[in-house]
Amino acid sequence: MANPYAAETVNPEPSPDGKVKPGAPLVQVDGVTLEYKTTNHRVTATYRVSFDVHRADRFVLLGPSGCGKSTLLKAVGGYMSPIEGKITLKGKTITRPGPDRMMVFQEFDQLLPWKTVLQNVMFPLRVAKGLSKSDALAKAEAYINKVKLTKFIHSYPHTLSGGMKQRVAIARGMAMEPDVLLMDEPFAALDALTRRKMQEELLQLWEDTRFTLMFVTHSIDEAIIVGNRILVLSPHPGQVRAELNSVPVSDAVAAKNLADRISGLLFGEESRRISRG
Ligand code: ADP
Ligand code: MG
Repeated sequence: MANPYAAETVNPEPSPDGKVKPGAPLVQVDGVTLEYKTTNHRVTATYRVSFDVHRADRFVLLGPSGCGKSTLLKAVGGYMSPIEGKITLKGKTITRPGPDRMMVFQEFDQLLPWKTVLQNVMFPLRVAKGLSKSDALAKAEAYINKVKLTKFIHSYPHTLSGGMKQRVAIARGMAMEPDVLLMDEPFAALDALTRRKMQEELLQLWEDTRFTLMFVTHSIDEAIIVGNRILVLSPHPGQVRAELNSVPVSDAVAAKNLADRISGLLFGEESRRISRG
């Protein structure tokens, strides 16, 4: 690869003109610069980032710590606005949070501790979606079953393991049947075995319902396992290095080649030579 810093795109999609048409991207991030303003300085978190997410994509944002992955996800969530560029969902500019975009975080404390598993999952269905009690109950039970927590439906969060808490958070997000599920390093605080299991379960859920996922990680392996598309971001401030198709992890050779290629993009040819000795 001649210039590892040049952005590359595999299978670019034609961009529509803001109109929702079949095959149009679900989420479009177009030239987005995101900044934090503190009392005496500004931090540029991402610089002119562009990408499209299509329906049923498992779209991964991959990059080193501090490159602006969480900030980008927050912007798609509607929690902050770009100072340059725009983000659209189904052709409409995102200006605020909404039940069409549900977020799952890394932290185990994202559940309401005074509510049971069932009550946690039902809560946004009632409050944000306005479902009747019986509809919310049916939907919550169905998604709790999908994440295999039916036995713990009346348990409180503090009695659950980290992995189980994350399953509840995933069930709560999915039960809302959002246009896009936003996950910010949801498995990063789990032990390696649980993490692997959760990745597989997430893929199984995707096979079942084909939801659209935006998933943030700093792990190359996790990006390849979870994603069908991988956006590789440069270190701070985050810029697009490449947008790549993932490969099936069952194809060990292809997965290894892709991992090497991503390492090269993230760390440059130099570190690649060093790591190979
Ligand atoms: P990542 O999720 O990729 O680790 P973040 O999106 O959290 O990165 O952060 C991107 C940059 O923005 C970092 O330099 C970080 O220090 C800065 N940043 C994040 N949150 C804030 C904040 N609330 N105020 C000021 N700077 C922030
Ligand atoms: Mg982050």
